[in-house]
Amino acid sequence: MKPLGSDQTAIQYLRYKFLGEEPLKDFIGLRPDTLCNYKCVSCKQVKGSCKTSEKEFQDILAEHGRQRVICSISGGEPLLTNEHFLRVLQHTRLCSTLGLYPTLFSNCHDLDGRKVEMLLEAGLKRLTTAFYGPDAASHDKWRGVPGSFVAQYRALKLICEKKRESRQEFELIVSMVFFRQNFRQLSEMIQMLGDIFGDEIDRLDFFPIKEYADLYLSEEDVDYFKGELLPRLLVQLHSYGFDVAGRKLQEILEGNPEDGVYGILPECCYSSHTSLYVSGHERLIYPCGYMSDYAERHPESAVVLGKVGEKLDLSKLKTLPMPICQSLCGPVVKGHNRRAQRAVEIMQAMPDLEQVLRLPSYENQLVLRLRREYIAMRDEKAFYRK
Ligand code: SF4
Ligand code: SF4
Repeated sequence: MKPLGSDQTAIQYLRYKFLGEEPLKDFIGLRPDTLCNYKCVSCKQVKGSCKTSEKEFQDILAEHGRQRVICSISGGEPLLTNEHFLRVLQHTRLCSTLGLYPTLFSNCHDLDGRKVEMLLEAGLKRLTTAFYGPDAASHDKWRGVPGSFVAQYRALKLICEKKRESRQEFELIVSMVFFRQNFRQLSEMIQMLGDIFGDEIDRLDFFPIKEYADLYLSEEDVDYFKGELLPRLLVQLHSYGFDVAGRKLQEILEGNPEDGVYGILPECCYSSHTSLYVSGHERLIYPCGYMSDYAERHPESAVVLGKVGEKLDLSKLKTLPMPICQSLCGPVVKGHNRRAQRAVEIMQAMPDLEQVLRLPSYENQLVLRLRREYIAMRDEKAFYRK
């Protein structure tokens, strides 16, 4: 079964707000280290080796994990060496044993058929990989490594093959990273991915690069994107059945330059109440992966929830989102926060909310009590639901 998403986030937020109880998590990010074989133009990660023990990772998963909690394993490149691969296998197996939903972000450069099979056998539920261009000339340039297009293309073919053969639940997500210098090639990227891998890709995704002025879309770029490119891309995406990707693009572009181009954040970061992100090389725990990236460059102003092995300081959540989140946070998180905000608004309007929250099985009670409102919300405001 898939994770619950923004409804669960909203319920946990209300529990925290009204009862002061530590919210249960629905997302745990594990970044053991930041070592990588690529040099992507959009990546400013500082390289660092893992200083967190397996036992400590296991304790974190055991303490905060439960059924359907997403565990996202990333890096750096999490499959960089055989040792890395074995660690990913170990984490994936542990997640499966605990009932979590293990997912992996990888450039898949060295993935072979046997490794894909082993990951699937370990219970991997989702793999996300990214493309920066429709061909070797552009992709390799932005990835910073000659041969990366060929390697990733080959790996994607293998993954699709093994996915077809496997009967288990497994999602393949391919993300298109775009920025000022490559967004005009999005149509070719969609065609390349749609024509060859369209049947096996469960979700095509877009990842706009923010924060770095040299990669940011200018106002003119956004005008062109919205006015000319987007209508064509929506038709193209629809022809491959990638309608969710089309909606995502619209969500990304609904912002305006004053709001930071890629859309304004809600007043509260609901996601941070239900997520945590472990940076293994720093031995620190952040509210989200964006904050972890930001902390590498601005350690003095980032929000840290605690150190590995120590109790988390939840009072820090009250300061989120920070002004800088406007340019850090992705449209996915913004959309999730907006959906959670809407669910919170609906729930807060319940006259007996506090009593319901005090019921022993408060989550079930809430879902039951709010079913009618949720249905109304879904029917009238489809935007707030998946
Ligand atoms: S593959 Fe990921 S971690 Fe490696 S350089 Fe690219 S963005 Fe950074
Ligand atoms: S960047 Fe800020 S708003 Fe976005 S998820 Fe992280 S803490 Fe929340």
